[in-house]
Amino acid sequence: MANPPRPLVAGNWKMNGLSASVSELAKIASGAADIAPNVELMICPPTTLLHRFAEAARDTRIAVGAQDCHAQPSGAFTGDISAEMLADSGACAVIVGHSERRTLHGESDEDVKAKAMAAARAGLTAILCIGESREEREAGATLARIERQLEASLPDRFDARSLVVAYEPVWAIGTGLTPTPGDVAEVHTFIRRLLTGRAAGAGEGVRILYGGSVKPTNAPELMAVANVNGALVGGASLKAADFLPIAAACGLAR
Ligand code: PEP
Repeated sequence: MANPPRPLVAGNWKMNGLSASVSELAKIASGAADIAPNVELMICPPTTLLHRFAEAARDTRIAVGAQDCHAQPSGAFTGDISAEMLADSGACAVIVGHSERRTLHGESDEDVKAKAMAAARAGLTAILCIGESREEREAGATLARIERQLEASLPDRFDARSLVVAYEPVWAIGTGLTPTPGDVAEVHTFIRRLLTGRAAGAGEGVRILYGGSVKPTNAPELMAVANVNGALVGGASLKAADFLPIAAACGLAR
């Protein structure tokens, strides 16, 4: 059996942060010295801070990612940002298909697939988000939903460098609710099977993150679950005091 993928703890700052937030990034970078060296750390600030964060994070172990991209490299798309532009600003990754984009901006699985492929074209890692709604979980339709979403939004070709999958149950995002470790294990193991079914070797190496109300208090049990290769963290990534213990828990779980 191949070595487990290197864990990744990524913070999604959503529409939060102004210039002054560079000081919080600096706190995360200096506190990172205490995190196990095998854990990869990433912050995804709003696009307005991307370049500034990338500059501030240079020579630290914090990577910088973006939160969304357009599928086309350039063109008449007022207000949109291409994956190439994000790479040019210093991003090494981009979140695609976050449930807030799917719900609030009507993004389909096909849109998400095009964005994941655009990320690869620009040399970025796509952090592809999937997850069931509360109704789907209550109806026992979680795995069917995950399979449909993943099959329709996975890029045609991927490897451990170009793709990370984030399992984020929609009902767990920003609610303080989380699935049980057993439920997380079931979904992550299922995702791993789907990934290896599509690409045997590459599928083993793709990181599968858990996301949805990860906090310092629940991180130890969530990060210890089989096939959980790290976390995508929303609210708790905004403060070094919350983000760093989550990253530390991820390191200790390995
Ligand atoms: C997210 O939006 O990706 C997320 C995981 O949010 P939170 O941690 O706040 O639930």
